[in-house]
Amino acid sequence: MQREKERGYSTPQLANVYDKSINLKGLEGEARLIEKIAWLPDLIYTGGRFERGLALICDEQGRIAQFARETDDIGHVIRLKNRAMLPGLVNAHSHAFQRVIRGRTEYRTQNSENSFWTWREMMYAAAARLAPEDVYDSSRMAFLEMALSGITSVGEFHYLHHAPSGAPYYDPNLLSKEVVRAARDVGLRIALLRVAYARAGFRLELDERQKRFIESEPESFLRNVERLREEIKESEQQTAWVGVAPHSIRAVPLSYLREVIRHAARENLPVHMHIAEQPAEVSACMEEHGLAPVALLDSEGLLNDNFTAVHAIHISKEEARMLAQSNSSVCACPTTERNLGDGIFPADLFFAENARVALGTDSHAQIDLLEDARELEYHLRLKKLERNVLAEVGEDENSSRRSALAAKLFECASARGAESIGAWACGGLEPDRMADFFTVDLDDPSIAGAAIDDLLPAIVFSLARTAVREVVRGGKLIVEDGHHRAQSEIIQKFAALQRKLWG
Ligand SMILES: [Zn+2]
Repeated sequence: MQREKERGYSTPQLANVYDKSINLKGLEGEARLIEKIAWLPDLIYTGGRFERGLALICDEQGRIAQFARETDDIGHVIRLKNRAMLPGLVNAHSHAFQRVIRGRTEYRTQNSENSFWTWREMMYAAAARLAPEDVYDSSRMAFLEMALSGITSVGEFHYLHHAPSGAPYYDPNLLSKEVVRAARDVGLRIALLRVAYARAGFRLELDERQKRFIESEPESFLRNVERLREEIKESEQQTAWVGVAPHSIRAVPLSYLREVIRHAARENLPVHMHIAEQPAEVSACMEEHGLAPVALLDSEGLLNDNFTAVHAIHISKEEARMLAQSNSSVCACPTTERNLGDGIFPADLFFAENARVALGTDSHAQIDLLEDARELEYHLRLKKLERNVLAEVGEDENSSRRSALAAKLFECASARGAESIGAWACGGLEPDRMADFFTVDLDDPSIAGAAIDDLLPAIVFSLARTAVREVVRGGKLIVEDGHHRAQSEIIQKFAALQRKLWG
């Protein structure tokens, strides 16, 4: 094999595969691949199984050109020894700025019942204090942590629009663009899901602390969305693009919601919406509309394959069926939902209906999408006092059956997330898709000794984030041997921000 480079390559060696003039500036998004590159790990997860001895050939556009067994005629081979390669994970639901309150809400406040709603008070207090550069620094911190855990694309549900006073910035998309800039600088693909937020709730006075979020008319909201799309300029490489996110039934009146969703259908934009995270939200919807949230959307004809219901915890079996039959996606966020005491995501109802289930890290109490994947199953085990609740019952115990549950959960963290946020060319390792992947160290203590047939269940149920070594987005290396090039600078800026916010 020609010019094979072993793992443990030094940066100058790796730099040879990039145009020398830019000196490995892939992290700034300017790297230009000069020819095809073969990435050769021990194992590649493709077509629902691990294959040995395959190289992934990446073209100049950052797409997977092909897989090859022989790499002799490929100019540059990067040998990733003792590594398994998997498709980059897709985080379908994030509020990046909420990274600033991690660890600050884990105590009981006096004279209140301590629920999602008391947590929200603390979150609002943080949201009120962030300047545009703070939004950039906190987002970069969240995105760095995502990259280090194997996430290559994120759907950012972004609702901070105005200055703390509630006055619009000179550019109504200033903060949206700060978040996009943060994702680009870290190296993630981003769907900026721009949030429509019109009111505190049915028959509720506006909460002062929501004034940074409010765009009370659908016309001005959609004008700002279109302006943002124009400015971001979706490229063929699809590094950043725009979707819409009516915040919730509580925060958006029905006439406004209809306009936003119809606009999205015309323009083929992803639509994300918080649905039934809390029982109080469902009862308010019943009171205002006489129907539960999903039933309301279904009766209005607003569910379709561009739509993602985020959370969907407090729903009926019929509502799960409505979401599945309309080919909508559902996004569960189990690490956040357990942190907030929201309830258990009914993955069994959705899996029974063959619904498309994506995953999100949401409030970033923890950023580890495989932890979210395994919790889909684990929360139901605790509830039902059973094991393998989401697995299909079968006759024998051959290897593909043994890994079927893990494969299903892994799809939630990859392919299903990509569909949900409109990252059409991502979510799997196949020719013509984007070369977005991460590698795991097969000697990491958390998965060491796993046989090829048991590797996926070992990864899905037990992988520690420290096992993630290389992360590549569109053929560009963004994490190298477990480290991001801008890591210390991002962490220092974030630590300074935390000192500024909390003293
Ligand atoms: Zn959310």
